[in-house]
Amino acid sequence: MPLPPPRPSARLPGSWRVWFVPFASLGMFVAAILASLWFVHRHESEIQITNLRRDTQYAELAISRKILAHQEFADRLAGALSAGQKPASVIEQAELYQAQNPEVRNIGWTAADGMTGWTVPAWKDPLAIARERASPEERERMRRLTAATGRSSYTEPYRDYQDEPYIEYHSPATIDGRPQGIISMTLSLRAVIERLVPIAVAEKYRLSLLDAEGRELFRQDTERETYDWLTQTVSLTLPWRNLDLSATSYKTDSLLGRTLLTGVMLLITGVLAWSLMSLRRRVALQAQADSALVASHERFVTVLDALDAGVAVSDMDSRELLFCNESFSRIFPGHGIGSNAAVLETAFSPVPSHAVPSSVLLDAAGAPTGVHRLEVRDEARGLWYALRVRAVRWVDGRLVRLTMISDITDRKATEERSRVQQEKLVLTSRLMSVGEMASTLAHEINQPLSAIANYNMGAVRRLKSDHWKKEDLVMALEKSAAQAERAGRVVHRVREFLRRREPIREPVSVNEVAAEVADLIELEAEKHGVQIRLDLGAEVPTVSADRIMLEQLLLNLIKNGIEAMRRTPKAERVLTVHTARAGDQAEIRVADRGHGIAPEVAPELFSPFFTTKENGMGMGLNICRSIVEMHDGRLWFSANPGGGSVFHFTLPAFAEAAITP
Ligand code: ADP
Repeated sequence: MPLPPPRPSARLPGSWRVWFVPFASLGMFVAAILASLWFVHRHESEIQITNLRRDTQYAELAISRKILAHQEFADRLAGALSAGQKPASVIEQAELYQAQNPEVRNIGWTAADGMTGWTVPAWKDPLAIARERASPEERERMRRLTAATGRSSYTEPYRDYQDEPYIEYHSPATIDGRPQGIISMTLSLRAVIERLVPIAVAEKYRLSLLDAEGRELFRQDTERETYDWLTQTVSLTLPWRNLDLSATSYKTDSLLGRTLLTGVMLLITGVLAWSLMSLRRRVALQAQADSALVASHERFVTVLDALDAGVAVSDMDSRELLFCNESFSRIFPGHGIGSNAAVLETAFSPVPSHAVPSSVLLDAAGAPTGVHRLEVRDEARGLWYALRVRAVRWVDGRLVRLTMISDITDRKATEERSRVQQEKLVLTSRLMSVGEMASTLAHEINQPLSAIANYNMGAVRRLKSDHWKKEDLVMALEKSAAQAERAGRVVHRVREFLRRREPIREPVSVNEVAAEVADLIELEAEKHGVQIRLDLGAEVPTVSADRIMLEQLLLNLIKNGIEAMRRTPKAERVLTVHTARAGDQAEIRVADRGHGIAPEVAPELFSPFFTTKENGMGMGLNICRSIVEMHDGRLWFSANPGGGSVFHFTLPAFAEAAITP
């Protein structure tokens, strides 16, 4: 009965429907993360932009306020000079002011004639000061401009020979509307940015100054990276001059953190996707393994069901059937897995578990001992079975009893037929032997019969003559009776020889059988001029044999020997029967002085129907071999050293008792 196939542990992942939900969830998770990241990013950007605006305004205010203060100071100096203050005190004020405000590189006075004047700081070489100042053309243009308008103004921004950016403030001094000269104040745009912008702002942004056309005059030179999209530009409003202050945000930790966060999120998503994919792969592999298991189970069951032999596995102790194939179910209809094997096997004789108990299936250490074979009969149905029983380790690890059972009823019937045939053959062979000896036997019976007739005739003659003595008559009749007995013995011997009966193994003396057979064949031997000699050993063991078969065996061998000596000179026609002990066996040798056995016929000698004789049947030696093998012995031949051949056979001893000849 087939086992139910193992159920697959997971659905086959062939369709994406099974995987849609997990992968869709993963997709939604990724979308949610991206959306929240985008919202955070937008929110942070807004904050950054607001901060940027505020900080730029703050910086612009700080710069403007200071520059305004510088302008006012320059205007005050111009006013003081206009009011006729002594230049020395003005210069002193200017020097002090310049020393306190390093972005003011120099302050100078140029009289209306454009030639005379002074500059501070006094410690600086006038040539070095001139290098930092606007070009003479620009200064001249400014002089005319301020003279014409009477108002303070700035020069175009310019660069010195070292490419440093500057701007100059020019404030006119007038007395009664007449121009007296100009106070100039040179501002370093680098110092304006580096000193006037509050540190809090300078740390967060890279600042630069642009002219009215948007050309960059100065830019803070740092290695730090910036977000170019976070830039704000504001105007620094100076009299007659416009400069722009531009601030670009440095990359910040918060943005870095966010980028990191995004990276981590994406990493997690990747890991999730990867684990989902590997899970899917594992499930696919599992499903593959499951279907391979199902296929292998099906193969296993198909093969077992196709077997002619029944196969059953039962528990060692409870004897519950754990598995059986279809053939087993055919032998025991209506029984399958779960049945009790101990009940089923009571139909057999002997009961298999009694013949091969668990103690035989397992050795002392509890390990399986191998296959045990036995043949059992189902008496009720008249069937024979061959059983092979062994212990095996079952799928759950325990030791179980595996039984293979095959119907051998046909084989048994064939064996039986062959046994009966064999017996018939032996009988036929015996009849043939007797047939062949018929004339000899007739002669043998005829002799006592003639003797009886003679004795009777003599007795009758004496009675008729009336001269008879009682003793003579009694003697004649006694002799006649003895001859009748002799004839009767011959007939009895032949009848005994031909009596058909079941073969019986019994203790048999080999020497006795040899003597009997020699006796039986004696006349036949004499007819052929052959002398039979018995050389019987003193300690020949008794054998377990069927006496009649043993007689037949010896008879066949002796007859063959006699026939082989047909052409041997009469004086040499001797056939010897030796008996001896060979270890725990009895060995019998029949030696003749005949023509011997040619090497080319030797291999065929025991084949059925092989003969070299004109009227031979070719069954004699074949029957001999069957008989010897039936008795667990061995039959062979060898050359007789003095010419002729020797046929040997051995038979296992029955007992150790020795027999005297
Ligand atoms: P059959 O006697 O009817 O020929 P056997 O089977 O008894 O059949 O013998 C087969 C053959 O073996 C004989 O024909 C003979 O050639 C050979 N053979 C048997 N016994 C002897 C022997 N003692 N010496 C020589 N040849 C023998």
